[in-house]
Amino acid sequence: MKALTLVLATHNRGKRREWQALLEGLPITLLLPDELGLSDPVEETGHTYLENALLKARTIAAAAGLPALADDSGLEVDALEGAPGLHSARYVLGSDEIRYRALLRALEGVPAEARSARFRCIAALVLPDGREFHTEGVCEGVIQSAPAGEGGFGYDPVFFIPEQGCAMAELSFEVKNRISHRARAAQALREILEHISSL
Ligand code: IMP
Repeated sequence: MKALTLVLATHNRGKRREWQALLEGLPITLLLPDELGLSDPVEETGHTYLENALLKARTIAAAAGLPALADDSGLEVDALEGAPGLHSARYVLGSDEIRYRALLRALEGVPAEARSARFRCIAALVLPDGREFHTEGVCEGVIQSAPAGEGGFGYDPVFFIPEQGCAMAELSFEVKNRISHRARAAQALREILEHISSL
């Protein structure tokens, strides 16, 4: 396999840590846009996760002249008709805790069997020659009625995963990185990256 330099279209160092682990074992060097002097964040103006992921990856691939990888994800709660979804990061203003507590309030009185939800992640890869690829990963769960755990970020403390018997925030970094929506999108993307770098 040939070595590949990829720009991860984010300014979030936590995301880089996750993607670095998710792509482990591949001969890939991951850079962040600011390490190439590209400091303006790309605005997420798309109407779908895919539009947003492609927008970020296309912008960075064009600016850097290198392959770019971007992801966009969110939490879809069935009892809220798929909200907060694309707006997960901006569901309410404030911290992650303020947001997951707002979600718990919105679900007050909703019984356990009607609290199904999923995290969805779309990962997009754009090459400087214009080729584009994308993959999707989903992680199914239930919104529990109180937070638990200290790990992860975002809505992890209220997202219960039946197969694991605990909240996402109670999983180790390694287990989350095996079963999360991002991990599943990354596993599919690894196959594409392996193919590209073998050409
Ligand atoms: P992003 O588009 O991947 O930055 O994610 C948008 C928002 O979705 C985040 O700000 C979180 O609120 C939520 N989210 C995405 N992935 C996760 C996760 O793994 N755990 C908890 N919340 C997440």
